[in-house]
Amino acid sequence: MNNATTTARAPFDKQGTLGDDARVDAAMRSFVREFGVTASLHMESCVRCGMCAEACHFYVTTGDAKYTPVHKLEPFRRAYFREAGPFAPLVRALGLVNKPTLAMLEQWQELIYDSCTMCGRCTMVCPMGIDIAELVKEARHGMFKAGLVPDRLALMDRTAQQWGSTATPGDDLPDILAEAATEHGVAIPCDLAAADILVTAAPAELGEHTKALAAAAKILNRIGAKWTMHREGFDASNIGFNNGDLELQERLTRALVDTAVKIGAKTVLLPECGHAYGAARWEAARWYGRELPVRIVHMTEYLDELIAERRIRLKPIDQTATFHDPCQIVRRGGLEAAARRVLAALGLELIELQDHGIAGYCCGGGGGVVSNTRATPLRHKVFELKKQQIEATGAKRFVTSCGQCRITFEQGAQHAHWDKPVESLVELVADHLAD
Ligand code: SF4
Ligand code: SF4
Repeated sequence: MNNATTTARAPFDKQGTLGDDARVDAAMRSFVREFGVTASLHMESCVRCGMCAEACHFYVTTGDAKYTPVHKLEPFRRAYFREAGPFAPLVRALGLVNKPTLAMLEQWQELIYDSCTMCGRCTMVCPMGIDIAELVKEARHGMFKAGLVPDRLALMDRTAQQWGSTATPGDDLPDILAEAATEHGVAIPCDLAAADILVTAAPAELGEHTKALAAAAKILNRIGAKWTMHREGFDASNIGFNNGDLELQERLTRALVDTAVKIGAKTVLLPECGHAYGAARWEAARWYGRELPVRIVHMTEYLDELIAERRIRLKPIDQTATFHDPCQIVRRGGLEAAARRVLAALGLELIELQDHGIAGYCCGGGGGVVSNTRATPLRHKVFELKKQQIEATGAKRFVTSCGQCRITFEQGAQHAHWDKPVESLVELVADHLAD
């Protein structure tokens, strides 16, 4: 149900048949499970200084106080002080903090799904070191358990549960790859029984962005790599990571790792996708239980390595360019310098955005917001901020290294009738391979 049209309340959706109390209890149980030492410390240390507000693109572009990062944690904070804080029994007995209500959780849905991309810019400025982005992610686990996520994301969750991908069933992969191979004139191996590298894709690369997939293929074929894609583990984007569906998140990443092990691959190559990197590179080891048996590497760092090892050489472009730093890859993932080295190898003169690197503003579509269609108007406001910064550089070209950011910019540009194309780093590299 979406009640946006019937009342002035924020839009929310519900899934499943849980009663009101059961939803609140499911969310509370999950919240309390998340309150380990780190989350508890973070809950205890906020001094309400407000510094995180100016870091958040949703607050900056709307000026609406409800979008301040710390406000986005309110029901989570209540759950902590009532159920897990050191004075929880006293807090409950004296009624000092009320239990979150279903109405509160419903209203909260917009704050943590529509107006938070888990970009971590607020985290970076918080003087108390509170990782608000991580807390929002943990809060999403409870909302998912309560059946309180945006319908559009819930639909993608169900699709991924059935197919192992939000894009296509694995059995259709060989045909999709064959079509892309013909269209772009490049060999794309599929389902090889043995390979050194398991190459994975983001859903858009199996649809409107097949050129990015073909670009990866062209580079891998050029260096003579023994690689394959595989129907049993191919979609690296992880809707479970965005939705708060932990079981699905683990299942999707495990499919990649297990498939790599099965074919003897030592490397899983992730596509230009930000949350794929967060889910597979940084979170997989948490639940795998031991050291991962494969190396998980993002396309940007792989390109950087190939250039450093002189396995590929590039023809210089000799133009100016600016670069959007995808939050999960740069601020949360640490690949700020790698992208810049690749741009330099392409002979591009980089003109940085006013806010760039780990301080860059989010595209506005991360954390599933780009797929959550009801958040589109808010996303377009954030796009204006980025558009202004990009235009201010006067750079000839605009490049990024995340397909989701790219889709967000493409949609924003279309809405704003802006004709600046956003280019993919891997496509630029493939298009400028020297003989
Ligand atoms: S910056 Fe940190 S301490 Fe200050 S209000 Fe935000 S979360 Fe609280
Ligand atoms: S993680 Fe990003 S989007 Fe979410 S509150 Fe912080 S700055 Fe805003």
